[in-house]
Amino acid sequence: MEFGFTEEQNLLRESVRRFMRKECTREYVRECSRNYRFPIELYDKMAAQGWMGIPFPEKYGGAGLGPMELAIFLEEAGYGWYGAGTSYFSSVVLGAYNILLYGAEWQREQLIAQMIRGEIKFAFALSEPNVGSDAAAVELYARDDGEHFTLNGTKMFTTNAHVADYILTVTRTDRQAARKHDGITVMLVDARAPGLTMRPLRQLGRTATHTNELRFTDVRVPRRNVMGEVGGGWTNLTKGLGVERMSVAMMYAGTAQAIVDYAVAYAKERKQFGQSISKFQAIQHKLVDMQVKADQSRLLGYRVAWMLQQGLPCFKEMSIAKLHASEALFDIANQGVQVMGGWGVLEDYDMELYFRDSRIGMIGAGASEIQKSIIAKQMGL
Ligand SMILES: Cc1cc2nc3c(=O)[nH]c(=O)nc-3n(C[C@H](O)[C@H](O)[C@H](O)COP(=O)(O)OP(=O)(O)OC[C@H]3O[C@@H](n4cnc5c(N)ncnc54)[C@H](O)[C@@H]3O)c2cc1C
Repeated sequence: MEFGFTEEQNLLRESVRRFMRKECTREYVRECSRNYRFPIELYDKMAAQGWMGIPFPEKYGGAGLGPMELAIFLEEAGYGWYGAGTSYFSSVVLGAYNILLYGAEWQREQLIAQMIRGEIKFAFALSEPNVGSDAAAVELYARDDGEHFTLNGTKMFTTNAHVADYILTVTRTDRQAARKHDGITVMLVDARAPGLTMRPLRQLGRTATHTNELRFTDVRVPRRNVMGEVGGGWTNLTKGLGVERMSVAMMYAGTAQAIVDYAVAYAKERKQFGQSISKFQAIQHKLVDMQVKADQSRLLGYRVAWMLQQGLPCFKEMSIAKLHASEALFDIANQGVQVMGGWGVLEDYDMELYFRDSRIGMIGAGASEIQKSIIAKQMGL
């Protein structure tokens, strides 16, 4: 077993780390978070570095790298700030990577290349008011009108839709299908299409890359914007799950390590009873538990990256990685607040924001309960 990285991979890690240190200042993070403001400057600079192209073939303008490099990038982006990771994730992984997997050739040639150059962004809309964990129960109806489809319905929780140019929208094209998994079609909706309105949602954390409610009233989508086969959306959606879950796991692993480092530095600095609180065994044990959890997240995430790279099936492993990384992240932030005492809940310190931002991981991209059901099934239970 090889635990090391290649020289190129180490260089990538170093350059992302340097970049995040320079661009993700605490003032910037706080300003974007406070104002529900998408980190557009950061996003544009990441695009200028060519990082949007990491997982895409060179013929579409990409860097021709693989899941391992994507994992390294997202770990470091997550270490810098969840907002760097999430702004990247919704456009690159949920958006362009799905186009790569099952989009039409014109979509791959034009839209992936434009996204890599930073000219367009994507969002991904599946969840609806009545459709959450039961994702195949999609209701938003797309009526087949020949040259175009006409969409009516509502989407909920669409991350970064307000800054997107195209929204990958999961629709129901056949209401009579025998199984709910049939009759689902994914299509690219122009975010400025007439009849589409958006409302930003106020939320507990991750406010800089917030979610939105989208209302579709007779929104026309040209037939050429369909991704994959009409009615074949569900099968296609499952193709990207490995890279999606590995990506969120690695982002969370990176943020987890950032929280540990922040708490360790604070504990060494803070003095009570005439010594650093890091000298108290009770505090040491908390910090150790936090570090062990962060390491586990990282290793489980890299296991999936490696399996994806080898083309191995990893349905169980990807759910384990996502489940663990999201739960560990919240545990670590929770313990981090405790290590800092009252200072941990003050807005002047980063821990308060880490705590709020970390809560959502156990819900988005498949809630913990759903990940456990998947793992149980894979265990033959
Ligand atoms: C910050 C954030 C960003 C998001 N971004 C996006 C996005 O970009 N695009 C998008 O489409 N969606 C997005 N979502 C939506 C997300 O995918 C859903 O919130 C998630 O799938 C859960 O659905 P729900 O919130 O409706 O909860 P529900 O499905 O109503 O679940 C409520 C509770 O019941 C549990 N539960 C449900 N079914 C079962 C079961 N069978 N067995 C055991 N327990 C069960 C759940 O685990 C949960 O604890 C986002 C959500 C958040 C919070």
